[in-house]
Amino acid sequence: MTAQRVIHQQEATAGTPATVRASLSPSRAADFKTCPLLYRFRSIDRLPERPSVEQARGTLVHAVLERLFDLPAAGRTPEAAGDLVAPQWDRLVTEQPELAALFDAGDPDGTAEFLRSAAGLLEGYFAVEDPRRLEPAEREALISAVVDDELLIRGYLDRLDVAPDGALRVVDYKTGGAPREAFEARALFQLKFYALVLWRTRGVVPRVLRLLYLKDAEVCDYTPDAEELERFERTVVALWQAIEAATARQDFRPRPSRLCDWCNHRALCPTFGGTPPPFPAAAASADPLVDARSRPAPPGADE
Ligand code: SF4
Repeated sequence: MTAQRVIHQQEATAGTPATVRASLSPSRAADFKTCPLLYRFRSIDRLPERPSVEQARGTLVHAVLERLFDLPAAGRTPEAAGDLVAPQWDRLVTEQPELAALFDAGDPDGTAEFLRSAAGLLEGYFAVEDPRRLEPAEREALISAVVDDELLIRGYLDRLDVAPDGALRVVDYKTGGAPREAFEARALFQLKFYALVLWRTRGVVPRVLRLLYLKDAEVCDYTPDAEELERFERTVVALWQAIEAATARQDFRPRPSRLCDWCNHRALCPTFGGTPPPFPAAAASADPLVDARSRPAPPGADE
């Protein structure tokens, strides 16, 4: 890798080794893998994306599931989860006023239906897990590790369970209504990313990577091994090198796929007759260590 960029030590990167000069989150890495131009629009141009109803529902359900574990174990019932839906929505709307704009102020039925649909996803959750029997070690936790001496990889995992024997289980809630096959590879990429971070920081390969598909009330378990994570680490580093090369060339090409149906930026995409804005060279080299996943996730991508 070429060392051209300036490191900006910020609060979020405090304690990061001085050799580190870039960071990558699973969302952004998956963007580049999916479509380099999408990566550019999101990470370099930083074009705004209007949250979709589906994305807002995902954010709400994640918030409810996080708060549910604040309750004493015996109180983590479907009814208690249902009681959290409206207050959590009120909190989210206060923190992210753009969410309120998803629903016509004169149409309270729209919001009520939305809250019911979130409650429906929670029913899917209770069909596959009993939270009274769980004590998560981490929820919505930011985890990070340095790979290849120079690259900080980091992201927020939904939940980490630790068994009495020390075995780790990474759990990710999937709430999207889009066809699962369109996003499954991306979801697994994200989980392997977390597994790599945990392995590098704790010296333990997670025993299980678990996707909980709430809409379908289904569980998808995956068991990684150290060899696979070593290969995955090389993949992540190669991906970052490809991102650096594309940035140096200012060349991010569109890669059309089924995911275009969920892309916010079709109007600017040459695949759909659009023209990207001029390449923001200053932004591209401004601060390589600002790249943490934020809620809400990109529409249809990570929820
Ligand atoms: S519309 Fe498709 S090809 Fe174009 S930027 Fe979005 S994901 Fe990439």
